[in-house]
Amino acid sequence: MNYAKLAELLFPNIEKTPAEIEAMYPARELPEGAKVTRLGPSPTGFIHLGNLYGAFVDERLAHQSGGVFYLRIEDTDDKRYVEGAVEIIINSLKFFGINFDEGATMEGDMGNYGDYTQSNRGPIYQAFAKKLVEEGKAYPCFLTEEEIAEIRAGQEAEKLNPGIYGQFAKHRDLTMEEIEDNIKAGKPYVIRLKSQGNPDQSGDDVKKFAVEDAIRGTLEMPENFMDVIILKATGIPTYHFAHVVDDHLMRTTHVVRGAEWLPSLPIHVELFQALGWEAPIYCHTAQLMKLDEEGNKRKLSKRKDPELSLDYYRNQGYHPAAVREYLLTILNSNFEEWRMANPDAPIDAFEFTTEKMSNSGALFDLNKLNDISKDVLLKIPASELYDFLKGWAEEFKPEIMHIFEDRAYLERILDLGRNEAKPRKDHIYAQQMIEFISYFFDDMFKIEDEMPAEAAADVPEILKAYLETYDHSDDQSQWFEKIRTITADMGYAVKPKDFKKHPEEYKGHVGHVSTAIRIALMGRSQSPDVWEIQQILGEERTRARIANYK
Ligand code: GLU
Repeated sequence: MNYAKLAELLFPNIEKTPAEIEAMYPARELPEGAKVTRLGPSPTGFIHLGNLYGAFVDERLAHQSGGVFYLRIEDTDDKRYVEGAVEIIINSLKFFGINFDEGATMEGDMGNYGDYTQSNRGPIYQAFAKKLVEEGKAYPCFLTEEEIAEIRAGQEAEKLNPGIYGQFAKHRDLTMEEIEDNIKAGKPYVIRLKSQGNPDQSGDDVKKFAVEDAIRGTLEMPENFMDVIILKATGIPTYHFAHVVDDHLMRTTHVVRGAEWLPSLPIHVELFQALGWEAPIYCHTAQLMKLDEEGNKRKLSKRKDPELSLDYYRNQGYHPAAVREYLLTILNSNFEEWRMANPDAPIDAFEFTTEKMSNSGALFDLNKLNDISKDVLLKIPASELYDFLKGWAEEFKPEIMHIFEDRAYLERILDLGRNEAKPRKDHIYAQQMIEFISYFFDDMFKIEDEMPAEAAADVPEILKAYLETYDHSDDQSQWFEKIRTITADMGYAVKPKDFKKHPEEYKGHVGHVSTAIRIALMGRSQSPDVWEIQQILGEERTRARIANYK
């Protein structure tokens, strides 16, 4: 077979030679050890936690080493393309502090290693496919869908590996005349790799090879023997081929991707070999798992788990710093220890490594995120929290914009109980914070809890006495002294333990009386310190709440 002639027949319009293309993608001039990473999302419009998790690894590896992190749009599967998806990807990641140095942007490409959108790179992939054909390492395959289905059915019946390989690769050795006739007859064809692997998978013939994974260590894998498709009938590459060509040309040093790509790693290794290129360092990240109601680990699912979508965190109003902090705890097993030793250090001071990544499934736990968020928000000054909340509300809850009119008032609310020796950790995410502080605003204030049974009958009288003796300028101890007086006057125990010892002697205790006041003021039986809340509410609002309680 004259492969050069075959290559010309299949790719008459590909003029650029691989060498010319290589010259357009010279080695990057970067400091020793600098890593080049990329995120290659498919523009499906759905961006999930796994993308952020991976992007975070990419970003840290590149930026910690003085390297480059770029965005490549992997849109070779046009069935999945969604309008506006690129914008969603860029904006969502930016919100969480992930910034690209290079690649696709809303204003077009940025950087010298583009085009960064795979659908614009057709002739580049074709040039390398042409090279493989020229070298006898790839061939056109005219098998129809029906023929492939038939092959598969036969393989199933005989319990053989499904796929096109060995004896099933029927078009591997077509003659030039047969190929010419097929093309003249307008038969569609794909380009397949002519795998060098041994298709005889029985017994000890399975050849294994070793490949280093930066997260998983040395992997022993069976070599590839499938004649995989590298170019589809449309001339568009498969993921396998696009990955190899792009990551080579764009000089990616580390390919961070999900564990779902592990099974096809042997294909990629063979493709790199066939093209005579050095493969990048692979970093296959663990699947994100969660514990289900029964306590079993399972994969996060798009259908069942809203928290898989990044939109969830934005809608709920998680602070990006909290999400970052949380992701690092699941990404690197030594992060929490580092954080304890360095409570105030900026997060980027932590040295992230692939060696400390879990390879067996990273457990994602919303409760843990919430706990971390409480700590992270505690360190954010009230003025910044105000700005953050306002930004969130503008987008997700415009009906509450009035709460931002009095900045000083809201900042005091947000700071309530945070400056104590043992500070309160009430804030978790915007949606929850708004609910938590809602009673400070008359239009959102409502009575949520029931009066304690012990004091229910006396509520009007307790509130009347409270209002009569209320002095807004009382300090905390003067204020509490008055509550004690009301408590004793009305037949309640000033000390809860007295009531517990002799319940027959009292109607209830001081806690029941003060809860009645708390509910009238805040609508809730639990809240931060009542005296402090009153100081923020102001005298007028405090009196009105007590007077208006029904
Ligand atoms: N386009 C692939 C995906 O969305 C990217 C995998 C990779 O990073 O190589 O899963």
